[in-house]
Amino acid sequence: MDEIAANNTRHVKRLAHPHVQYTVCDSLMRYAEFLGFGNLHIKIDRKTGLKAIVAIHNLKRGPAIGGCRMVHYQTIDLAMEDALRLAYMMSYKAAINNLPHGGAKAVLIKPKVIKDYDAYFEKFGEFVDELGGRYITAIDSGTSTREMDIIARKTKFVTCTSQAGGEDDPSPFTAYGVMRAIEAAVKFKLKRDSLDGIHVAIQGAGQVGYHLAKDLVALGAKITITDVNEEAIKRAVDTLSVTVCHPDEIYQIDADVFAPCALGSTLNLKNIKQLKAKIVAGSANNQLAHSHYGTLLHERGILYAPDFLINAGGLIHVAVVYDKGNRERSMQQIQGIHDTVYDIYERSEKENRATNVIAEEIARERLS
Ligand code: NAD
Repeated sequence: MDEIAANNTRHVKRLAHPHVQYTVCDSLMRYAEFLGFGNLHIKIDRKTGLKAIVAIHNLKRGPAIGGCRMVHYQTIDLAMEDALRLAYMMSYKAAINNLPHGGAKAVLIKPKVIKDYDAYFEKFGEFVDELGGRYITAIDSGTSTREMDIIARKTKFVTCTSQAGGEDDPSPFTAYGVMRAIEAAVKFKLKRDSLDGIHVAIQGAGQVGYHLAKDLVALGAKITITDVNEEAIKRAVDTLSVTVCHPDEIYQIDADVFAPCALGSTLNLKNIKQLKAKIVAGSANNQLAHSHYGTLLHERGILYAPDFLINAGGLIHVAVVYDKGNRERSMQQIQGIHDTVYDIYERSEKENRATNVIAEEIARERLS
C-alpha cells in the first residue's frame, strides 16, 4: 500500500464535505464499499517489477473468476478503479448467467520494461496462489495462454492455459452469446423464428463485431456495419457480405436490430430518439450512458438486451475451461443466454419494467 499512500499525498482531493479532506485512497475505499466489495489485494515486488491488484467482488456463489489484464496506467488509483469496476461487472455477469463463481479482476500495472518475463508472471502466480483459491485468474487484455502457462507453474488457480485448451481470443464466444440474444429478441419482438433477412446494424467491426457479423451473415441476416478504423472495415468488406455506413449514421439506419459492439456509454438521450431499430443487442460493456436510459428504451418500445447478460460468452467459456470442459460444452452453455434473456424480455413486458432493471435485480438477489 506504500505506492497508494505516496499517491495520496500527491493527489489529495476535496470531496463533498468542505471540512473533511478525503484522499484518493478514501474515495477508492468509498467506491469499493459502494460497489459491495469484497476483498482488495495488492502485491508489489521490486525484484520483478510486479505491481498487481486483485479485486475480489463477491464469493457467495463460489470462487471468484476474472481475467488478468496487463496495461499501462498513468496512476495506481486509475488501475485500482479499473480493477474495482471490472470485478464488480464480472460478479453480475456470472450471477445472471448462473455460473458457480463470484466476480474478480486482476490488474497488472505494466512496467516500461519487464526484465525477466517468466519471473514476473511466476511472481504473479505466487500471488494468486497465496489467495488460496478465492481467485481464479484467466486471460484478458495484454495476456494470453502464454502468460497463463507461466502462471500455472506456481498455482493451480488459473485457467485458459494451453494444456487446458485455452484460446487467446474470447471474442468468438462473446459474439456467439450476442447472436443467441439477438435470436431471442427477434423471436420475442418480431415474432420471427429465423434471422434470415433480418437487418442488423453493427457499431464496431473489431473482434466481437466482426465475428458477430460473420455468424449473422451465415444465418442469412443483412448487415450494415461501421467503424472508425479503416482496417477493421476493410477486413469486414473483404471477407463478408456487408454494407458500410459512416459512424455517425449508424443510429438512424432503418434496421431491425442495433448491435453496439464498440464503446461503452454509446446510448444517450440524443441517439435513443434517433434509433429506428426495434431491438438493441450488442457486446459493448455499459452501453447505456445512464441506467435510466433502459427505461427510456422500454418506453419507446425498443427491446434492450442487457449488455452484462448477453456479452458473457467469453466468461462462460473461461469458467467451462476451468471446470475441464471443452469448446463444445462452452458453446452449449453459451446457448443458454437465449433462454435467460428471453425470460427477461417476457418479465419486462408483463411487469412493464425495463429489461436492465430486471436483470440487475436478479443478479443482485443472487449475490446478496
Ligand atoms: P475491439 O477493440 O476489437 O473492437 C472495437 C471496435 O470499435 C474497434 O474496431 C474500434 O475501431 C471501433 N470503434 C471505436 N469507436 C467507434 C465509434 N465511435 N464508432 C464505430 N466504431 C468504433 O473490441 P472487442 O473485443 O471487439 O469488444 C467490443 C466491445 O465489447 C467492447 O466494449 C468490449 O469491452 C466489449 N466486450 C468484449 C468482449 C470480448 O470477448 N472481446 C467481451 C465482453 C465485452
